Amino acid sequence: MKPKVLIIEDEAAISMLLRYNLEREGYDVSEAQDGEEALIVAVERKPDLVVLDWMLPLLSGIEVCRRLRRLPDVRNTPIIMLTARGEEADKVRGLNSGADDYVTKPFSPSELMARVRAVMRRARPGAEAELLRCNDLVMDLAAHRVRRAERDIHLGPTEFRLLRYLLEHPSRVFSREQLLDAVWGADIYVEPRTVDVHIRRLRKALNDGPQQDLIRTVRSAGYALDSATA
Ligand code: CA
Repeated sequence: MKPKVLIIEDEAAISMLLRYNLEREGYDVSEAQDGEEALIVAVERKPDLVVLDWMLPLLSGIEVCRRLRRLPDVRNTPIIMLTARGEEADKVRGLNSGADDYVTKPFSPSELMARVRAVMRRARPGAEAELLRCNDLVMDLAAHRVRRAERDIHLGPTEFRLLRYLLEHPSRVFSREQLLDAVWGADIYVEPRTVDVHIRRLRKALNDGPQQDLIRTVRSAGYALDSATA
């Protein structure tokens, strides 16, 4: 059975974008446009995950979150809140009212999907294959395998860890130093240029064909992994 996601958002353009991306990843999606409808749909559908907008008519996102937490079937369902940029106080209040995570608007679909997968993994350990994706690239963590467009890609251990880190943080730009800390470990001294060498190897392995280059070099800043939907 497909995992069920309930989107609570009054802006049609955003809920369409969410629905498109969630369905593409195999989720069964339902929608509600305001808090009162959301509470009814939540009881009917018993979602496995809720994506909840902060700004809603009738009931605020926070109030919806509190009420969802009082429903027996939704009490333990993970909730991701969508908040406006820079509203730190909202995030704190959202998390205090029972949300599990939040994403700041405007968000990239790939960033949101990465959060959805992370929250689902925490909520249902073992229920989902440990897959990380970016366009036609798929990393299977359990099998320690990487495929792009149905072709197996063989990576060295450092390239595998580097790619995993980039896949877990899509579209985010990392400096060489940040990648060294995350992939090699902060207590090991490695020349920042070493990162370039491994990025070059990773690129060569991934781009062995006519596909687009997924790794973006940001001049004097570092590297990012991009998807077409970002
Ligand atoms: Ca809204």
